[in-house]
Amino acid sequence: MSDFTYAIDADGVATITWDCKDKSMNVMTFQGFDDLNAHVQAGLADDAVKGMIITSGKDSFAGGMDLNVLARLKEDSGDNPAKGLFDGLMKMHGVLRGIERAGMDAKTNKGGKPIVCAMTGTGMGIGLEIPLACHHIIAADKPKAKIGLPEIMIGIFPGAGGTTRLIRKLGAMAASPFLLEGKILPPAKAAAAGLIDEVVAPDALQARAKEWVLNATDADIVKPWDARGYKMPGGTPYTPAGFPTMIGANAMVHGKTQGAFPAAKALLAAVYEGALVPFDTALKIEARWFTKVIMDPTSTAMIRSLFLNKTALEKGAVRPAGVADQSVKKVGILGAGMMGAGIALVSAMAGIEVVLLDQDQAAADRGKAYSETYMDKGIARKKATPAKKDAILGLITATTDYAALKGCDLIVEAVFEDPKIKATVTKAVEEVIGADCIFATNTSTLPITELAKASQRPEQYIGIHFFSPVERMLLVEIIKGKETGDRAVAKALDFARQIRKTPIVVNDARFFYANRCIIPYLNEGIRMVGEGVAPALVENAARMLGFPVGPLQLVDETSIDLAVKIATATKAAMGDAYPDSAVDDVIFWMADEGRMGRKTGAGFYTYDAKGKRTGLWDGLADKYPALDNQPDLIEVQHRLMFAQALEAVRALEEGVLMDIREGDVGAILGWGFAPWSGGPLSWLDMISADKAVELCDALAATHGARFTTPDLLRDMAAKNDGFYARYMSA
Ligand code: NAD
Repeated sequence: MSDFTYAIDADGVATITWDCKDKSMNVMTFQGFDDLNAHVQAGLADDAVKGMIITSGKDSFAGGMDLNVLARLKEDSGDNPAKGLFDGLMKMHGVLRGIERAGMDAKTNKGGKPIVCAMTGTGMGIGLEIPLACHHIIAADKPKAKIGLPEIMIGIFPGAGGTTRLIRKLGAMAASPFLLEGKILPPAKAAAAGLIDEVVAPDALQARAKEWVLNATDADIVKPWDARGYKMPGGTPYTPAGFPTMIGANAMVHGKTQGAFPAAKALLAAVYEGALVPFDTALKIEARWFTKVIMDPTSTAMIRSLFLNKTALEKGAVRPAGVADQSVKKVGILGAGMMGAGIALVSAMAGIEVVLLDQDQAAADRGKAYSETYMDKGIARKKATPAKKDAILGLITATTDYAALKGCDLIVEAVFEDPKIKATVTKAVEEVIGADCIFATNTSTLPITELAKASQRPEQYIGIHFFSPVERMLLVEIIKGKETGDRAVAKALDFARQIRKTPIVVNDARFFYANRCIIPYLNEGIRMVGEGVAPALVENAARMLGFPVGPLQLVDETSIDLAVKIATATKAAMGDAYPDSAVDDVIFWMADEGRMGRKTGAGFYTYDAKGKRTGLWDGLADKYPALDNQPDLIEVQHRLMFAQALEAVRALEEGVLMDIREGDVGAILGWGFAPWSGGPLSWLDMISADKAVELCDALAATHGARFTTPDLLRDMAAKNDGFYARYMSA
């Protein structure tokens, strides 16, 4: 059955309605394009039709291209995929250009039929590129609807004419937040920004669209770029006004991405080159750059991890089968410190009743005040309302009284990182809560199985590891202790869904999964400083890999004393097998110097009075003089990448990771692992197991046993296999 239907009314206005029957939101497929085109062509050919409305049968217009189609674009493009892709794109351009020209005479621009897009709500990606090809865009004024081109967020860029049209509609400067940052706006703001043309009350949408069609003149349906004398707003690259925009955009993108994201570069190239030529040639250029991006393995990897697998995990891909809904109604949070306060906020925002308990009332109140400050900031930025703030604060009870925890169906413990204190509160809480209540600890380092010993119901005891700041970080790591049962896992997953986090579920082991990989990243950076590698080389190598922060900056953020604490505890647990003494030399010395990181205004970086970083600390060079021969950038990058990726492989080998999708999605969302790679395991696939083994063997020979090639990787190399081929092929 077609996703598009076609009907003509008594006034000669044809309506093409998009409605993917088995989906909650319209998404585009190749077949969809053919069907849309057939209806448009029928309307243009029919003398009884005066004009057309393209709209949706749902309360949103369209979510975009079907990403399952996008993810397979390269595979599905024939023996010569670059050519197949380019030809497919040009066919799509032909369909949209057909709408835009609407049967007009090429010379006189006369004789066309008006085609309006009536957006019933959200229109993203292709769901805005189609409207942009129409002659006029009217959207229903729904404050929650989202309009924009978010393609760049998943490693591609608008390739169905959206780039070329938006640049010509708004100019490079005004279009850049939408194209380069994927900025999304509600309809009224989208109209004010010029992204769409008009908003009307939702129930007036179809009538207004029809009125526009019936009143449109020949001039109304000629796009500015098809009219004589068109000049690009803000100027083309070789005009005095346009020149600085292009240079500035280039510098800004490289400053932000360090060149690590091929899609951003390709987008800029398509914009720049497209602006120098006529419209139809610009579409061809856009198609060529889009083809290049799709042919680059990074786009497939990003779509797979950041959309397909992230969504699958959010929808419960790893949720135990057959466990009834475990949505949380009342959560008790123990400890109202930094983490407890954040967990209370996100829970209340999800409409869950919260009891926030601390040892004294002032601490509990401070924890609740965190939500108040957060909402006040939201109100100041017009993102929240006083009513919403009251509703959220009304859900949070700050207390010291354990009796208030009665009726909670989930407890999240976030008291000090001390097993004795955790055991005491666990016992005290179990006196009060019902037999069904699930108990979760937010510990970042303590083994769950050990902590569960304090509980009378270890099968209802689980780890839910949040990341800081809770309201901003997208990941939660759910940790199963030895005895944790399915209902506890389901509860943690259902809670994650309610508070809109992406969950991964891992087995219990030292540092679980995320910290297990982050710590070697930090350690490798610190170790290099100790060896005399220039700190700037270490930090820039990481930034150029697309990490949001370099290892030294990250240590400063999380604090040197925490690093010292973790190192001391790890050494005590591992004894002679402890491998990181070279790292400790540096951090213990930093601690002796009182340079504890950002919070003390001194660490690997220097800071001004406001806590802003002012540069790397030159005192480091006195203690650890820079080597005369600095290593190659690539070697530094390989050390940083393999330090993490090999931990991910070991976590998989040891059964800590149970699903490679979780390893990859968790790495990107948890600590910003090079997003272009799709995650550490995806990166190893990208370079091939063969090459990875070769590089690891070389690194191990030069830098030590921590780079020893895991057996799993060696086996994959021997069998010409990869992680996704081995674990995910259906
Ligand atoms: P914090 O020191 O900011 O807060 C701990 C709170 O617990 C304090 O308000 C304290 O008064 C309260 N508390 C201590 N003993 C208590 C008791 N017996 N009864 C009730 N309340 C008590 O610490 P935090 O950074 O919020 O960390 C809390 C937990 O979360 C720790 O286990 C930590 O390892 C973990 N964690 C921290 C981070 C992070 O980035 N800070 C990230 C993930 C997990």
